[in-house]
Amino acid sequence: MGGYVPGEQPQEPGYIKLNTNENPYPPSPKVLAAIAKALNEDLRKYPDPMATAARRKAAEVYGMKPERVLGGNGSDELLTIITRCFAGEGDKIVFPYPSYSLYHTLAEIQGAKPMAVEFPDDYSLPKEIVQPDAKLTFIPNPNSPSGTFIPKAELRRLAKKTSGVLVIDEAYVDFADENCLDLVDEFPNVIVLRTFSKSFSLAGMRIGFAFAQEPLIEGLVKAKDSYNVNRLWIAAAVASLDDLDYVRKNVQTIKKDREYLVKELRRMGLFVYPSQANFVMARLDSEEQAKGVYERLKAQKILIRYWSKPRIDDCVRITVGTREEIDALLRALAALLENLKKGKKVSVR
Ligand SMILES: *Cc1c(COP(=O)(O)O)cnc(C)c1O
Repeated sequence: MGGYVPGEQPQEPGYIKLNTNENPYPPSPKVLAAIAKALNEDLRKYPDPMATAARRKAAEVYGMKPERVLGGNGSDELLTIITRCFAGEGDKIVFPYPSYSLYHTLAEIQGAKPMAVEFPDDYSLPKEIVQPDAKLTFIPNPNSPSGTFIPKAELRRLAKKTSGVLVIDEAYVDFADENCLDLVDEFPNVIVLRTFSKSFSLAGMRIGFAFAQEPLIEGLVKAKDSYNVNRLWIAAAVASLDDLDYVRKNVQTIKKDREYLVKELRRMGLFVYPSQANFVMARLDSEEQAKGVYERLKAQKILIRYWSKPRIDDCVRITVGTREEIDALLRALAALLENLKKGKKVSVR
C-alpha cells in the first residue's frame, strides 16, 4: 500500500506556509495560559480516559449530551477508530474523489474495500455515493481540496438512504454557512467530526471531537486507546471552548480574506472553485503550469499544495493566510503568470 502523504512541514524557517490549511493566527492567549497551568507534577498521573471535563464542556457548547461526545487525538485518530470499529476485511468503504485521501489509506490498512466515487465537475454530491452495502461512508464537508460545500438537506437525504455509518467530516465547517451537527439527533447512523486544527489555531495540539448517538460512541470507546488524549489536551480543549469569541473573530477575518483572495485570483484569469473553507482551489491552464507554479513559488519560499493526481493535476490549493501573506503570494503568482504570457517556461526542470 501507498500510505498517506501529509503536506510538507519544512524544517527551515522563513516559509510563507499556505499548504496545510493551518490558521495563520496564534492560539488564544487563554488557551496557552491553561496549557502552562496544566504543565505541573500531575503529569506523573495518567489522564482521565474519557476526558470528562472537555467532554462536558463540548456537550454544553454544541448543545449535545456528554454521552454523545468523544475526544480524539485529532480527528484523524477518530477516523482511524471509526474505520476499525465499523469496517472489517473486504467491507466496502465509500467516499468521494477528489477528497481527503486518508479515507483511502485507512480502508487499505483495515483490509477493507475502498470505493472512491468521482465528484461531478461542480462538486455536488455524486449519485453513486449511495451504496446500500457500504459499511462506512465518509463525506468531508466542506470538501478538501475543492473547498466546496454540500447543503445539509442533501446530506440528510443521504443519511436516510445509507444503512451503514455515515461520517460527516466537518474539519472546515466553522468557515461555512451551515453545519450538520443536528443530524446526530435525527439519525442513529451519523457521526459528525470536528477538529481544533483549523479554526481554533491548534493543529499542534491534536484536538478532535466525534458527535454521535450513544450506541455508536460506546462502540468507539471500546476500540480506542484508554488514554488517547493527554492532560495538556484536556486543559487546552476546555480553555478553547471557554474562549469562542477569540475563534469567531479569527474566522471572520479569514472569511473576509478568503473573498479577497478569490477575487484577486479570478482577476488574474484563474478559475477558482467557490470555497466555504479556509483555503481555495484554483485551476491553471495545464498540469505543467500548475506544477510549475507550485515549484517556482516553493523556490521563493511560498508553499502551496499541489498533487499530480487525476482531476486535480492542473489545480493548486492555497490556504488563506494573513493579508500580508496573501499579498506576497498574489505578487509572486502575478509575476509568474506574466512571464508565462511572454512565453517563458514556468516549470523548473
Ligand atoms: C485537516 C483535516 C482533518 C484532520 O484534522 P486533525 O484534527 O488535525 O487530525 C480531517 N479531515 C479533513 C477533511 C481535514 O482537512
